[in-house]
Amino acid sequence: MSDTKCNCFSEYLEKVKEKVSPQIPEGADEVSFVWQNRIFLVSGADYSPVNPRVEVEYRKPKKGGGFAKGMTRDTISIMANYCAFCGRKYEKEGDKS
Ligand SMILES: [Zn+2]
Repeated sequence: MSDTKCNCFSEYLEKVKEKVSPQIPEGADEVSFVWQNRIFLVSGADYSPVNPRVEVEYRKPKKGGGFAKGMTRDTISIMANYCAFCGRKYEKEGDKS
């Protein structure tokens, strides 16, 4: 909707493809290039498609003492405010005048 949006992430992904594709063995099947930690938002909201994540990890205490065998893990996605490539500020809901 706005012409101030950038396509940095898709453009860089294309560049990576061009550079790395010759290293992939000929005849390879189901070749795929995707950003890690991608997020998808409904609506045409202006946001970074790739964002940092924080991993939370801990061992739960047991009622009778000691700790659980398995680790409890969770991941929290952080939304970037600026494009990592061009430094453009994302136009978030509420910023619009
Ligand atoms: Zn950008």
